[in-house]
Amino acid sequence: MTHDAHQKVKASHLKRNAYLYVRQSTLRQVLENTESTQRQYALRQNAAALGWPLDRIIVIDTDLGQSGASAADREGFQRLVTEVSLGRAGIVLGLEVSRLARNSMDWHRLLEICALADTLILDEDGVYDPAHFNDRLLLGLKGTMSEAELHVLRARLQGGIRNKARRGELFVRPPMGFVYNAEEKLVPDPDQQVQQAVRLLFETFRRTSSAMATVKYFAAQGVQFPRHVYSGPNKGDVVWAGLEHSRALRILHNPRYAGAFVYGRTHTRKTVEGDWVIEPVPREEWEVLIREAHTGYIDWEEYEQNQLRLRDNCQAYGKDRRKSPPREGPALLQGLLVCGRCGKRMTVRYHSRRGQLVPDYICQREGIEHGEAICQHIPGAAIDEAIGNILVEAVTPVTLEVALAVQQELQSRLEEADRLRQQQVERARYEAELARRRYLRVDPDNRLVADSLEADWNNKLKLLSEAQEVCERQRTQDRKLVDDEQRAAILALATNFPQLWREPSTADRERKRMVRLLLEDITLNRADRLSLHIRFKGGAHRTIQLPLPQRSWEQRQTSSEVVAAIDRMLDDHTYPEIAAILNGQGLQSGEGKPFTARIVARIQRHYHLTPRYDRLRKAGMLTVEEMAKALDIHPQRVKIWNRHGLIRGHAYNGKNDCLYEPPGMSPPRKALGVKLSKRAAAGVVITQCTKEVQYEA
Ligand SMILES: [Zn+2]
Repeated sequence: MTHDAHQKVKASHLKRNAYLYVRQSTLRQVLENTESTQRQYALRQNAAALGWPLDRIIVIDTDLGQSGASAADREGFQRLVTEVSLGRAGIVLGLEVSRLARNSMDWHRLLEICALADTLILDEDGVYDPAHFNDRLLLGLKGTMSEAELHVLRARLQGGIRNKARRGELFVRPPMGFVYNAEEKLVPDPDQQVQQAVRLLFETFRRTSSAMATVKYFAAQGVQFPRHVYSGPNKGDVVWAGLEHSRALRILHNPRYAGAFVYGRTHTRKTVEGDWVIEPVPREEWEVLIREAHTGYIDWEEYEQNQLRLRDNCQAYGKDRRKSPPREGPALLQGLLVCGRCGKRMTVRYHSRRGQLVPDYICQREGIEHGEAICQHIPGAAIDEAIGNILVEAVTPVTLEVALAVQQELQSRLEEADRLRQQQVERARYEAELARRRYLRVDPDNRLVADSLEADWNNKLKLLSEAQEVCERQRTQDRKLVDDEQRAAILALATNFPQLWREPSTADRERKRMVRLLLEDITLNRADRLSLHIRFKGGAHRTIQLPLPQRSWEQRQTSSEVVAAIDRMLDDHTYPEIAAILNGQGLQSGEGKPFTARIVARIQRHYHLTPRYDRLRKAGMLTVEEMAKALDIHPQRVKIWNRHGLIRGHAYNGKNDCLYEPPGMSPPRKALGVKLSKRAAAGVVITQCTKEVQYEA
């Protein structure tokens, strides 16, 4: 320790604590580079030599295993800064102090605070007083060098990686089903079980064209899929577990299975919050793609096909997962529902019923992942309606603020549109100016060119005036819209809300926007009843119970009155007659269609109503054959007699097949030579058969 060092340390410093900051950037360094850690701790002796008692030297080593590249996650470093800024630190110790923070910004901030708090800095080279210009310059330089060192190191590393990647020789962690052989070539895993599982995955996908179906097949067959353990004590092991949807997708999307070497499929980026996000890079922008780099499980052609199929599937099912902005569909609560069983966001699926889109709310994330049944599936119409009613109830003058927020939003949107339109005008003006200049530049003798340029200029001027006109017109319209009527309307929203809500011309999107202004989210649970737990914006909440919505077949059911009426009418009428009578009364089938003979017949069968035939038989009616025998005539004649009203028949179906009343005491007899029409006119009996048949005779 030099004389100079002792000069810088004053009594005021010694009164305060000394802080020793120990850091190793990675866990591996912590484990392997023990020597450096020991050197860091040895600095305590230096501080003691300068006069600090050992018990006042505080060690901050909570950041062991944290990178120095940013202070954001380093609790220890932040604590150090806090202690310094509170004036508790007389000196800060660190091995190569510049490594305290390898990010210049953090480092300079620390220096500044140290200067303000009159705190010294000590490293293996000596003691610095950040309040002195020379010392601060030196420390600043050290920090910059340190950051530069890190940069160069990383650049060199990255360069090396890129070069290797370009040659296809970069060692990348092999995906499941591949291993590196002795020549460092990627080959299919010699473990036959692993290989077969991977092959089965691709085969099943080939057969089913769907990752979901593949997962289901594995689950149904009880086939397990291998998985690497990448961390923890069992690192490097292969464990077998159920195939998950995301895993299947990752494998299907991975070009390595097609024998290709790729580099740069993803891009890592730091966000404003300091998190790292990994983003996929489109295929055209992959840095390296070498086909047939090694043996694969499928060929490149099949890989391409698989990608197409997966993309089509994805478009077919849509992806609405997280809490999401309002979209066009009518499902009011899209993106606001939380599953009451598993806590995941519920998604929307639409189906069409009687020409209308009807929403269903579904919790299917887990189901998709493991190829099992979905968690909850609830028809949405009743829920939407209940929530609508609650909102209508809840919107009182208090919610005027909401109305004003809506207005604000409308206003800002209009302004935005106006800005866009003005930009269009500007652009048109610029193009007209350009055309004018081009025209002026041309040699007037060159008539051909001059003419066409003049026409172009004229054209551009016309476009400009059109754009201006549109802009002006729209602006005056907008102004009127928001200024007078709309403002009044919005101010009246507190009382008008129910009307506005139910107004058919209010777009679904607007309704959803209103819901979002009022509600935070809704938790949905289906048991013997539906329970909805509603959280309003601002903390209020409410739970309501709804009866379980009817299943779609229940909604299509025929009403019990209609069934009873049909039961009654079957005594006296055929199916077509019953259908005509029901339609005459303005009744409709459960599906909302007019009745037909076929529908009536189906209802009879479905509700096990006694068929008309059985009813007539039970009442003692005879079949054609029995009647023929009783009257001792040919069966064909029974029908003819019936048609002419000599005997009485009752139709039991739409084809006018009849059962006959027994002949009784004085049955009609064969009377040769007498016209049948004459005998009928005698009016022995009045036929019950349908009229059309009588006219035929
Ligand atoms: Zn769920």
